[in-house]
Amino acid sequence: MNPELMVNPARNEWISEQACVSMARTCNLYCVYCHNPPTGEKRDILKTAAALKKKGVKAVSLEGGGEPTAGGDFFDWIKALKAAGVKRFMLSTNAVALADAAFCRRAAREIEYFTVNFPSHREEVYAKITRSVKFRMALRGLANLKALGAEEKIRFFHIVSAGNYRLLPEFAVWAARNFPRAAFVNFTFVRNKGRALKAGGIVPRYTQVAPFIKLALAALRVKGHKTVVQNMPLCALKDFEGFSFEFQRWRRGDKVLEDGIDPKAPCAACARCTLKDACCGARPDYLKVHGAAELKASRKDPMFITPERF
Ligand code: SF4
Ligand code: SF4
Repeated sequence: MNPELMVNPARNEWISEQACVSMARTCNLYCVYCHNPPTGEKRDILKTAAALKKKGVKAVSLEGGGEPTAGGDFFDWIKALKAAGVKRFMLSTNAVALADAAFCRRAAREIEYFTVNFPSHREEVYAKITRSVKFRMALRGLANLKALGAEEKIRFFHIVSAGNYRLLPEFAVWAARNFPRAAFVNFTFVRNKGRALKAGGIVPRYTQVAPFIKLALAALRVKGHKTVVQNMPLCALKDFEGFSFEFQRWRRGDKVLEDGIDPKAPCAACARCTLKDACCGARPDYLKVHGAAELKASRKDPMFITPERF
């Protein structure tokens, strides 16, 4: 999961100096596209806490290869990190563990921001993607957060794959209707990495996804919701470029691609495109599957693209 978006909806500010704490080692789902599957390797809590203390880290994102809440030591981590001086916690989760009301209540007290990997609002699609029967648990987890008054802490992280792209507009309407106070919806184009490589057929074409994602973005925007799209080239988002997360990073003066992400794949269209500095380009893993024929050099001036509200 991606911890990159660091806005704190409760306080309407950006969390800076945030460390990603890769503490998950197992998972309670088995998503077909998981690009960072769990290895079972346990990180030392106290050593990690000591290292963060030394650096003076005050804000962390709990994540890793797997689901942070599934290891049985979730609150041990929080306790140790708090003792090391960490004050603010973000969590990347699939929300399944939050179905337990007591667990959810405790988590909601500690976590400022829940990034929830929720790949479909339809049970049968969720089951296929996550290869689980835990749809209702995840939904219960979300409902528990809402009932606790923590809806504003929810950030939907919707990975766009061949299994769900046609349902993106429907998902947008569902999210807006059921979680109107959620912080935002992040649509992230799937990566052809990790488990996705074994399953095959997970990565749709940009051109297949484009009309559906545009409708989804428009549906959320019309309802006044914040939404963003990640890991899709600007030429695939023609006239919707302002929703691109990487474009927004560029406008803020940040690097287009965050650390740890593969660089853009070299491509002839990109080389002559006026948007190249502001665009995430195509990922090398994408080009291996579909090639570069869809990428179209633009002549737009990126400074004339209006970033969407985020
Ligand atoms: S993508 Fe799915 S399987 Fe992978 S860590 Fe997240 S919830 Fe678990
Ligand atoms: S041609 Fe390349 S740089 Fe230009 S918008 Fe498409 S992917 Fe981005």
